[in-house]
Amino acid sequence: MDHAGGVNQVFGGENHTGKPQRPLWDAIKRGMLGKCPHCGKGRLFRAYTKTVERCEVCNEEIYHHRADDLPAYLVITVVGHIVLTMFLAAEILTNWSSWQHLSIWVPLTLIMSLALLQPAKGAVIGLQWANYMHGFGGEHDGLETHPEITESAR
Ligand SMILES: [Zn+2]
Repeated sequence: MDHAGGVNQVFGGENHTGKPQRPLWDAIKRGMLGKCPHCGKGRLFRAYTKTVERCEVCNEEIYHHRADDLPAYLVITVVGHIVLTMFLAAEILTNWSSWQHLSIWVPLTLIMSLALLQPAKGAVIGLQWANYMHGFGGEHDGLETHPEITESAR
């Protein structure tokens, strides 16, 4: 990545002059750890995948995020590949019955999915914040295409 360039090109092709480049990978890492993408100190989530309105340490507004279904798709892709690979390996290396397979892979899939959903959502929020996407750029981000999004759903 070229940090030395004079132009800060951000997602969407717009040239947001005057805005400092935000550290993408730091923001994603902080989000994965459940921390504010800006300061890395404040909490990002107030419950499992419910985000805080704003960071309690640096006051960064978090509610702008529009992670939507992307974290779930990421988790499905990652967990699907891991479980499928392990299942095929076990199928080749063991003589397990169908019930033995089911009793291992179904709970493992559930546990991994639940464990990865919050880090995945944090990573997506970090990515959106670092790229000034949606309301993170300071501009109003209309919600008319998402009428289901309400205060309680954030
Ligand atoms: Zn913060």
